Amino acid sequence: MTDELAARLADIDARIALAARASRRDPTEITRIVVTKFHPASLVEHLAALGVTDVGENRQQELSAKVDELREIPALRWHFIGQAQTNKARAVRQAASVVHSVDRARLADAFERAGLDGAGPLTPLEVLIQVNLTDDPGRGGAAPDEIERLAEHIIGGCGTLRLRGLMAVAPLDEDPAPAFARLHEYAARLRTVAPDATWISAGMTGDFAEAIAAGATHLRIGSAITGPRPQHG
Ligand SMILES: *Cc1c(COP(=O)(O)O)cnc(C)c1O
Repeated sequence: MTDELAARLADIDARIALAARASRRDPTEITRIVVTKFHPASLVEHLAALGVTDVGENRQQELSAKVDELREIPALRWHFIGQAQTNKARAVRQAASVVHSVDRARLADAFERAGLDGAGPLTPLEVLIQVNLTDDPGRGGAAPDEIERLAEHIIGGCGTLRLRGLMAVAPLDEDPAPAFARLHEYAARLRTVAPDATWISAGMTGDFAEAIAAGATHLRIGSAITGPRPQHG
């Protein structure tokens, strides 16, 4: 089990390094987050034993349960990558070091309130603005023309949050390369109002090479490392 996991992890890291060099980028500047959703906490334990520090979850309850179960492993950085509801902001803030999916002012305010009330070990909480690369509002993420306003809201009004950059998921019905090229432009726009917000969270099992070519700094890779996800009941 651990041998297989180690082999898949090494294989992905080699492919990340290759893709980085092909784009004349330094692979050490790219953070590989292992997405462990639907897998048991024991898998995260195996990953930690292999040196993994950054793990991602997309559901608050699962995140909170795993963080609780694995509190003995202090080196883990938990990334929340799922759509968040304002009434879950406190619980997410209690468990996560980074939230990739802030897509509206009300949600930023909910994380801010949780921080002011003392929820969570980390102040500031690192956040990214999720941007929607499709025309379907149901896919989550702020519309591209809302990025600057939301960034100004976070910087001006949310002192317990630190805006780090943009996150996006590639559309299902479009080649990821042009979609990630748009994300790269949006990231440049964000930096005009938030010069320190330099992170680009993009790239999953099927499209991380394209994301690296478009400047991704944080990859969110699940099944290529963990194996297929168990069915979720
Ligand atoms: C599940 C998930 C991933 C990882 O997907 P894989 O295809 O398994 O690599 C990345 N980002 C988000 C937002 C996810 O929900």
